[in-house]
Amino acid sequence: MKIIRNIGLTIFLICFAVFLSLPFLGKYKLTEKIFTENFKDTEQQKLLKPALKDFFKKEYNSNISFIKDYNKAFDSVNDEFKKNKEWDKVIYDNHVFSIVKNSSQGFVKDNVAILFIICFVISSLGGLMYMIPALFIKPIAGIKNDHIFQRGITNRGIIAFLFAAFLITFYIFIYQKPAYLSNWVLLVDGLSNTLTGTNASQWFLYGFLYCLIMLVMSVRMYIKYRDNNYQLLRTTSVLFFQIAFAFMIPNILTNLQLPYMDFKNIWPLDYSFFFDYRLTELASNGMLGYWMLGWGIFLIIIGVPVMVYFFGKRWYCSWVCGCGGLAETLGDPFRQLSDKSLKAWKYERIIVHSVLVFAVVMTIAVLYTFFTGSSTLLGVDTYAIRQTYSFGIGFMFAGAIGTGFYPVMGSRVWCRFGCPLAAYLGIVQRFKSRFRITTNGGQCISCGNCSTFCEMGIDVRAYAQNGENIIRSSCVGCGICAAVCPRGVLKLENLSEEGRFDAYVRPEEKAF
Ligand code: SF4
Ligand code: SF4
Repeated sequence: MKIIRNIGLTIFLICFAVFLSLPFLGKYKLTEKIFTENFKDTEQQKLLKPALKDFFKKEYNSNISFIKDYNKAFDSVNDEFKKNKEWDKVIYDNHVFSIVKNSSQGFVKDNVAILFIICFVISSLGGLMYMIPALFIKPIAGIKNDHIFQRGITNRGIIAFLFAAFLITFYIFIYQKPAYLSNWVLLVDGLSNTLTGTNASQWFLYGFLYCLIMLVMSVRMYIKYRDNNYQLLRTTSVLFFQIAFAFMIPNILTNLQLPYMDFKNIWPLDYSFFFDYRLTELASNGMLGYWMLGWGIFLIIIGVPVMVYFFGKRWYCSWVCGCGGLAETLGDPFRQLSDKSLKAWKYERIIVHSVLVFAVVMTIAVLYTFFTGSSTLLGVDTYAIRQTYSFGIGFMFAGAIGTGFYPVMGSRVWCRFGCPLAAYLGIVQRFKSRFRITTNGGQCISCGNCSTFCEMGIDVRAYAQNGENIIRSSCVGCGICAAVCPRGVLKLENLSEEGRFDAYVRPEEKAF
């Protein structure tokens, strides 16, 4: 079995190395045709073409020098405008990604199909080969987490930090410099054309990778928790919502020339839901657009509180949400790294509720601008508020830190410290919900498995030892604490509200 695992790991690593090398391979040549097809503004084209004259003749061996010279040509035109303070004439280039992608030639462009198979299909098979022997190696499913703190990858070793560095770098490039990753995007053009009817953007690649990683890592979850129906159902649920709702349906809507919408992504997690361009797009799509808008508002005002009342925030955070889905699959090997200290709990409450307030203020500012046409509210530029939120929370916190810090701070960094929707769900769960984790304190042997594997940093054992119900706003109801408890002390329940804040007495104990 060990041999199969090692072969699988080797296959995966080779495929991953091929994937990593792609941005540095191939050649790049910009022709006038590619330029005019991708840079639509004819007036600006006339200004830029003389500056790009030499550029059109040249073939580049790397996208780094290609992008550098392309930007240089741009700057030479803009410098003149800036010198003359003709700010309205300065040309902003939003096309560099498509220009670089369409200028790619040679090895990558000519071998897209085989590279797709190597990078995504064979690498996944390698990953599965590494995981599947666990079915036979470990006689008991679920709770055999032995040696988790002895391995560098799961206990902040060098490999963990390298993995974190890779994830953070990936997020920085996909958000800020996607042009450098255009060779990766080329690989999914075929799939994108089938689904959306157009070539892939960096976001299509991101969605595809997200689904693929969740799919492969779900197999690990199925094996690890194969004796626990709650975990099996929950894993299937997050996988379904990610692939169908977050990836397939929005892309098919785009193909049908309808507004792109992830029907399960709720404001304020979907922080751009009330942005002007989205409201305008929905309004221009008649009844369907208004229905989509109504659905989003219904979820915020009615869907969230009603569902949290009956089931706790787990219905969303652990069964539906894409961020939660990635945390529960890719992030599962790192869940034990969450900080359980009271200090961390204090910071968690301050930070996550501050982000919620920021999201509300930003949305009020955006709506104010949408309805009044004025871009200043109380002397503050509403676009600046929106940009600050998009960059600071949308990109840095949710993306680079939220996922990049999995190997360092555990799997739910974003959900615990940053997600404004989790804060909203948590407030309802804390004060008006039937959900709780009941503890049968008499059975607890204080092994601490539950606290160790709580990804939200809850010291579950402390509650168990006191026989107290766990009613924490941050608990996402993942159920892993119950799954790893060797004594069956913990139970996730939706009981009546009565006695929720009291220590729970089991019916069989009431007899005594
Ligand atoms: S307390 Fe249990 S169910 Fe709640 S987040 Fe922690 S491990 Fe998951
Ligand atoms: S509740 Fe279960 S897992 Fe937690 S300390 Fe007690 S026996 Fe161990």
